[in-house]
Amino acid sequence: MSPRRLDQRELATVSRKLRAWFKRHHRKLPWRETRDPYRILVSELMLQQTQVARVIDFYGAFLERFPTLEVLAGARAAQVREAWHGLGYYARARNLHALAKQVSRERDGALPSDPAELRTLPGIGPYTAGAVATFAFERPAALVDTNVARVLLRLFAPRTSPKSARGQRRAWEIAEAALPSRGATAWTHNQALMELGALVCTARVRHCARCPLRAHCATYAADRARASAAA
Ligand code: SF4
Repeated sequence: MSPRRLDQRELATVSRKLRAWFKRHHRKLPWRETRDPYRILVSELMLQQTQVARVIDFYGAFLERFPTLEVLAGARAAQVREAWHGLGYYARARNLHALAKQVSRERDGALPSDPAELRTLPGIGPYTAGAVATFAFERPAALVDTNVARVLLRLFAPRTSPKSARGQRRAWEIAEAALPSRGATAWTHNQALMELGALVCTARVRHCARCPLRAHCATYAADRARASAAA
């Protein structure tokens, strides 16, 4: 099966269904209740390689201790490490601390909203730049993490592995093409893609029967064709 060509009208329909599903089924998470760039950034760094339930335990306590970027910038490395203790992957904490110091020194404590500028900061890759730009500033910026790549490729390029360089490129192309142009709509669209990957189209199980996108999904169509051929 060759990858499907992307049809703009279908992508718009996919986005609309995805956003409608998200409005009904999303989890209430503390970082979805704020547009504070610093708080969004902290959540995004904590969520890298770490389960949501675990991050919730640490997120509130960390922000109580370091409520603003300026407070974090003024903290000692040992204090930051202590607050991060138990979350693992301490490079994230070191990067966050270095970023806070740099943004405090060079930008008067204000994080940039442009993904390209965000990517120049310590620890910020393409995914995190897109996430902060969209979730904090409501800028239409594409984002692709492991979950999003898996969902997009299952939908539109089912033979392409999300772990391959080609799969990553293809996932970014689809994410860009599917992104709504209005910022607030892009916020919901990106949150919804990530939520679908976490709750419905997961790494371990595809819950296609309750997926709002199955009418558009190449993987689902291939499963059905296989089942019919075997019957
Ligand atoms: S229909 Fe199934 S494979 Fe396709 S996106 Fe939904 S859950 Fe994933």
